[in-house]
Amino acid sequence: MAQRVAVVTGGMGGIGEAICMKLAAAGHKVVTTYSPGNTRSGEWLAAMKTKGYTFHAYQVDVTDFDACQQAVATIQSEVGPIDILVNNAGITKDASFKKMGKADWDAVMRTNLDSVFNMSKPVCDGMVERGWGRVINVSSVNGQKGAFGQTNYSAAKAGMHGFTKALALEVARKGVTVNTISPGYIATKMVLAVPKEVMDTKILPQIPLGRLGKPEEVGALVAFLCSEDAGYFTGANLAMNGGQHMQ
Ligand code: NDP
Repeated sequence: MAQRVAVVTGGMGGIGEAICMKLAAAGHKVVTTYSPGNTRSGEWLAAMKTKGYTFHAYQVDVTDFDACQQAVATIQSEVGPIDILVNNAGITKDASFKKMGKADWDAVMRTNLDSVFNMSKPVCDGMVERGWGRVINVSSVNGQKGAFGQTNYSAAKAGMHGFTKALALEVARKGVTVNTISPGYIATKMVLAVPKEVMDTKILPQIPLGRLGKPEEVGALVAFLCSEDAGYFTGANLAMNGGQHMQ
């Protein structure tokens, strides 16, 4: 199997870390990006090393187009041409629409949607020239079904899939596939911090499988989409939500 260079944005987060580990286990050279506000990158890299993973890490603010161009250029010269891009970085700024301020709207659109353009733009031409590439956009079940208090997040996550379909059409003949994955509730630190009573009475009853998803299940799906065997998936939106939302 060919060793590919894979870039995962927000790879030090709950889901991103699992994606990095699964891509490394699939034999890829993994580069993660981290935000300018991240003060634990060295610690994280060291902890990963003790688990047997050697990752490359570059700081970049994914909302900043010029910074993304610069980071991609540095990664390509120091690590190698990027074959796999996982647009995983994301935030929430929840509020009912009545209370949502413009700043909450802008922050979520810039981090969750503009970032997809900012990172894909400098990477895509190289994939097309080399005749192979994988772009995976990490969306959410809430982009498929909407969620109370998330007009910004649902719009950005739905927008990601529109991007996926349009770009998939443009690069299909060049050996590059573009797909979206839409996880439901995943057992990351943030979700696990929800009070037990809320989890048991409000969240779990919505999930036919009766449990949260595991970050490593998301990582495994991403690794599969990056494999040769997944070469016939493009423009798809793969739901992974325990049956919470069936289409
Ligand atoms: P985390 O908050 O753990 O990870 C998000 C990552 O995004 C962080 O590692 C952070 O980097 C990075 N990030 C945020 N803003 C910026 C920025 N401006 N520039 C660069 N990086 C940035 O969340 P999750 O792991 O839970 O989420 C990962 C993705 O999965 C998100 O897109 C989220 O919307 C999606 N998702 C999550 C679900 C869940 O249940 N957890 C369900 C469905 C979708 P750093 O750590 O370096 O600051």
